[in-house]
Amino acid sequence: MDNRFQAQDRFADGAQYIGGRLRPGTSGQMHHVIDPATGDKVYTYERAGRAEVDAAVSAAREALPGWAAATPGERSDAMHRFASVLAERADELARAESLQCGKPIKLTTEFDVPGTVDNTAFFAGAARHLEGKSAGEYERDHTSYIRREPIGVVGSIAPWNYPLQMAAWKVLPAIAAGNAIVLKPAELTPFTSLLFAEAATEAGIPDGVVNIVTGAGRDVGEHLVGHPDVAMTSFTGSTGVGKRVAEVATATVKRLHLELGGKAPFVVFDDADLEAAVHGAVAASLINAGQDCTAATRAYVQRPLYDAFVSGVADLMRTVRLGDPFDPSTDMGPLVSHVHRDRVAGFVERARSYATVVTGGGVPQGELAKGAYYLPTLVTGAAQDSEVVQSEIFGPVLAVLPFDSDDEGIALANDTPYGLAASAWSRDIYRANRATREIKAGCVWVNDHIPIISEMPHGGYKASGYGKDMSSYSLEEYTQVKHVMYDNSAVARKDWHRTIFGDRP
Ligand code: NAD
Repeated sequence: MDNRFQAQDRFADGAQYIGGRLRPGTSGQMHHVIDPATGDKVYTYERAGRAEVDAAVSAAREALPGWAAATPGERSDAMHRFASVLAERADELARAESLQCGKPIKLTTEFDVPGTVDNTAFFAGAARHLEGKSAGEYERDHTSYIRREPIGVVGSIAPWNYPLQMAAWKVLPAIAAGNAIVLKPAELTPFTSLLFAEAATEAGIPDGVVNIVTGAGRDVGEHLVGHPDVAMTSFTGSTGVGKRVAEVATATVKRLHLELGGKAPFVVFDDADLEAAVHGAVAASLINAGQDCTAATRAYVQRPLYDAFVSGVADLMRTVRLGDPFDPSTDMGPLVSHVHRDRVAGFVERARSYATVVTGGGVPQGELAKGAYYLPTLVTGAAQDSEVVQSEIFGPVLAVLPFDSDDEGIALANDTPYGLAASAWSRDIYRANRATREIKAGCVWVNDHIPIISEMPHGGYKASGYGKDMSSYSLEEYTQVKHVMYDNSAVARKDWHRTIFGDRP
């Protein structure tokens, strides 16, 4: 218990980070951050109101010209220092993330924090690699070249499932490209976004380049999205809220980047390594208690392997240790809140009328009963068009369905509105290659499911949104391309003027 992050002391000055310092909100609305493992209040803060959004956007506007004019090398140096500061604070970041989300400390220590440090180092390097076409004479007597410029003030909105990594995915490409940013984390999970912004300041990134406003989605979020001085909206969250964000952003013709929900299929062909597929399915459906937009949620298993796969997954799920997130032996913590846990439980309770809950499907008793825990859950016998197969549950729930032909397996994988991620399991290179071509998703793994890397893009197809996070693709999203064209002839009356002046000499 002593090891827990002491939020009330650490953020005594408030949960808004504007112009390089912490300050309180002025909305008059208090928010309690709850430890989902215990139900205890761990931090109370005054949420941002519209005034904080306006102040943060002003701070970003003020910082923008200087930051945009810095050379790529200067931005890169500051971001390398940023990566070092984050690495020095790894322990605090991991404890803060575990406290607010209920994530096991081994997940935050081995995944969230090192992933964020690596991302920061990647974008420090990428800042010096903005690409464009070569300058040249594409039209006779004219020289053309490309300028790749920052967009301006970026307004970003992030979800609660990976607060630190989401802050990193939003902030890093934006500032590497010379923009300034105002980020709104989810109200439930402000700690690591604030620590991230503080580390940026400590690394020498100028005040106002990175700002955090912590407030309610509908009020503060929409004010940020609709703000006339914000040039781009970058949103990660559910598809439903993403549609609303797109509507609001349209009124001011903002550039939009939407990373939305997922319902990732996990397709097991009959020549797959069964042990690998079973272990892969349990790990990929339970990572972060299933609150992962790319988590394996629908396993399609070719008939010859179906029974063995179901019993293997059920047996392995029963061995997963639920517990205190701060205990290094805990495999799975609680869900982010009791409200969300009850929502997840609702999907499973409704599924009982049309499917079989093979294991899980309830809350653990004893010590863990006061937390927002939910047991690893396996559902079989659901129809493809049922809620448990089609809707994003965002909890530790895996549905397994059989299929016969390869055509059918791939068709089922593609049969939801989402297209964020998928995996194919086979030892046959031709089958696996076909699956990677035909599954409509922004990422397809072969014989694995979940790993992400800074160099490669993450982003959706279909209702999972558009735009990419991480990688040089995301850097490009945060720039605009300007064509500059010079006349080389120095002639007053140019040939093409004939189209206006006719044949006059
Ligand atoms: P959410 O959509 O409820 O909220 C996301 C953010 O939007 C929060 O900060 C919230 O305060 C804000 N918000 C809510 N209403 C708003 C409005 N009207 N205008 C502006 N902002 C508003 O999502 P969540 O429950 O926090 O997170 C889970 C969702 O995020 C899942 O659907 C998951 O798939 C998705 N997600 C996607 C990715 C990805 O990369 N595609 C990554 C992580 C999470």
